[in-house]
Amino acid sequence: VIRCRAAVAWAMGKPLSVEEVEVAPPKAGEVRIKIVAAGICRTDEHLLEGCFPYADFPVIPGHEGAGIVESVGEGVTSVKPGDKVIPLCVPQCGECSFCLNPESNHCLKSHFSEPQNLLPDKTSRFTCKGKMIHHFLWVSTFAEYTVIPEYAVAKIDAAAPLDKVCLLGCAFSTGYGAAINTAKVKPGSTCAIFGLGGVGLSAVMGCKAAGASRIIAIDINKDKFAKAKELGATDCINPRDFKKPVEEVITEMTGHGVDYSFEVIGHADTVNAALASCNMNTGVCVMVGELPSGSVLSINPMLLLSGRTWKGTLLGGWKVRDCMPKLVSSYLEKKFNLDLLITHTLPITKVNEGFELLRAGK
Ligand code: NAD
Ligand code: ZN
Ligand code: ZN
Repeated sequence: VIRCRAAVAWAMGKPLSVEEVEVAPPKAGEVRIKIVAAGICRTDEHLLEGCFPYADFPVIPGHEGAGIVESVGEGVTSVKPGDKVIPLCVPQCGECSFCLNPESNHCLKSHFSEPQNLLPDKTSRFTCKGKMIHHFLWVSTFAEYTVIPEYAVAKIDAAAPLDKVCLLGCAFSTGYGAAINTAKVKPGSTCAIFGLGGVGLSAVMGCKAAGASRIIAIDINKDKFAKAKELGATDCINPRDFKKPVEEVITEMTGHGVDYSFEVIGHADTVNAALASCNMNTGVCVMVGELPSGSVLSINPMLLLSGRTWKGTLLGGWKVRDCMPKLVSSYLEKKFNLDLLITHTLPITKVNEGFELLRAGK
């Protein structure tokens, strides 16, 4: 058993508490990882607010991170102690019918198939002050050590800087992949991205890498525009600067609407606006943002009847275990610059300050 620090959410709506926790050794098929760096994603905030579809407290949040294998359980063959790895919040068992389908990046053995915040055997490896603590998405990267099933771990290049590539665990891969894999943005096309957080800015990077000629970035926080432009946005608009709905503004800017739109916020009204912003016939709208659990969307059916395509994405459509090492190599080859997405670096003791910065739009 390892004793280390972790940020524990004891109850919904309460700040995290940095505690000493016990992390049990990995069981068969599991890997214990020393987490070196983690990122904060809005999905962690959804969990703390109780808006995530399944939230069991107390829990150690965090699902974006990178680390080094400390020990492995019986039968683990793909990684060994000392390997650099990225934990995967969407696993890839490689055997189920979804994993065998080249079009799918979902795995039937994931925690989504049977929503729960424990490991696959329905037990936890974490305790604190005599209480069992839940895992989050099998990853729990806000702990100095965490235990994860082998099929939710990707071995990466030993040269990778973990404080940068941790962003591949969720934000970057999701936004970039939403453009490249889910929308399949074509060269010369027009794109609109609603929401310029870590995920939305990564979608801007994906559209640019795919050769889009016009990338319209939309946010109500104009402080996000400079970074969006640096990453490839050609136009930045704040919906609050206009009297008419933003979808009308975008339709006028582009003639008939963009070829691809992305909702990367998680609000019903911006989902509708993003859908209406892509062209009525061949437009593709990708829903990336996560709406509060239990939400129901109402849309004008004509938006789809006229031919539009409306899609969702899970972690940007990558078959994660196969693709993560390749994404790390692409980063090392400077095909994209993750460093530009990093705004602040804090020690684990200041995790609540990190959430305050996220809430403040910083
Ligand atoms: P974030 O909070 O950092 O960014 C959201 C941005 O949207 C902010 O810049 C905010 O100012 C802007 N915004 C808020 N309301 C707006 C409005 N009405 N109009 C325009 N802009 C508005 O969040 P993030 O970490 O980038 O995550 C974005 C969303 O993606 C979240 O809902 C998150 O849960 C979801 N997500 C989904 C997946 C997936 O696999 N599909 C993966 C990661 C994150
Ligand atoms: Zn995330
Ligand atoms: Zn599978």
